Amino acid sequence: MADSINADERAALPAISFESAERKQLVIIGTGPAGLTAALYAARANLEPVVYQGPEPGGQLTTTTDVENYPGFAEGVLGPEMMQIFENQATRFGAEIRYGTVTAVDLSERPFKLIVDDEKAVLAEAVIISTGASAKYLGLENEKRLIGRGVSACATCDGAFFRNEEVAIVGGGDTAMEEALFLTRFASKVYVIHRRDELRASKIMQERAFASDKIEFIWNTVVEDVLGADEVDGLKLLNRVTDEESTLPVKGLFLGIGHKPNTDIFKGWLDMDELGYIKTYPDSTYTNIPGVFASGDAQDHVYRQAVTAAGTGCMASIDAERWLAENPVAQTEAAAQ
Ligand code: NDP
Repeated sequence: MADSINADERAALPAISFESAERKQLVIIGTGPAGLTAALYAARANLEPVVYQGPEPGGQLTTTTDVENYPGFAEGVLGPEMMQIFENQATRFGAEIRYGTVTAVDLSERPFKLIVDDEKAVLAEAVIISTGASAKYLGLENEKRLIGRGVSACATCDGAFFRNEEVAIVGGGDTAMEEALFLTRFASKVYVIHRRDELRASKIMQERAFASDKIEFIWNTVVEDVLGADEVDGLKLLNRVTDEESTLPVKGLFLGIGHKPNTDIFKGWLDMDELGYIKTYPDSTYTNIPGVFASGDAQDHVYRQAVTAAGTGCMASIDAERWLAENPVAQTEAAAQ
């Protein structure tokens, strides 16, 4: 599995001494559903996990509103509220959640070396990576302002709020087609806005999208602006071939232009696919480095649901617990602390 790793891609570790660095049994990176579930299980297994929140505490769910598809919340729950519940449950059993982002790693030997916020050195006997993925956005000011108020990068999460409304989705790949088809269950009409006149999506997804009478394609077109004071009420479009500008009155703007796993700091250490998702051994969360486990959207580009992320977070914790039991810290090393 590790043949594709190029050590030249490893970012240099800042010149910070690890001599007096604190040494933890288990460090979990990320506080989305995967990281916090790993933290819950690890805390209950007395591993005293330290969890670094990262730049987006709570993960992608904090950018959504109601979550209606997480089992156990029959009436739905607000994304940020749900993540607070996850956190409360993990800390109740002793997980220590810390501000800070792990900005560099050296995974060459155990204990693994981690740098937090470019300045703090931490050593870990085992590491669980739950850094998630970030949806790509277009980068428009009003798009950012209206996230959660009509702008969404997750049709599965937010599609149901657009019953009998007209919505648009940007993108021409499998994600955009899949989400457009999902949106047809609720919306009265779904516009697919694509910057070219040819889709990137697989043939079968294209055919399904073309077959839907609720989906209309707008080709060679980009979104120039998102309109609306408190919620989305339209899009300003530009046809890149004719230079024609137009306004499309829709209540929702979905982005289907891809996700990027937050795995840059592990490049050159961990085996990844061409998109940067960490590869794990089948039916496990083991990476190519023993003692380093990966869970959630950092390793899953297929399901990408809170519940599946939580599931793999649980797996990572159990894998780490068993691995630590089979590979205990040498007595002398432990005594040296
Ligand atoms: P892709 O990278 O495949 O597609 C992204 C799409 O968004 C492209 O059409 C691209 O346009 C467009 N795009 C990118 N950036 C911009 C931008 N700034 N403005 C406008 N348009 C933009 O990402 P996906 O998320 O669709 O898929 C990722 C991977 O996951 C793929 O391998 C896919 O096959 C897989 N997948 C599989 C699924 C399945 O099998 N059911 C479901 C979902 C994903 P352009 O084409 O011009 O580059």
